[in-house]
Amino acid sequence: MTPPFRLVHFRPTAPRLDHEGHSENAVWFCRDHVRHTEGKAHMSAVLAVVHIRAAVRRAGPNPWPLTSIP
Ligand SMILES: [Zn+2]
Repeated sequence: MTPPFRLVHFRPTAPRLDHEGHSENAVWFCRDHVRHTEGKAHMSAVLAVVHIRAAVRRAGPNPWPLTSIP
């Protein structure tokens, strides 16, 4: 069974942490949305989330115009 949440790592854009903390390139996803992260590991977390939000919106019941800012 798919876990309820999964931590996905994207391309790092900052030096690795030398202490405990949340990496800037790691983002939690729920099981409903984690499939949208596939093929995006080469993107920064910020860029990946822009693409993922757009994909989720396009698949939704009332998609926003594609020209709007996510
Ligand atoms: Zn989700």
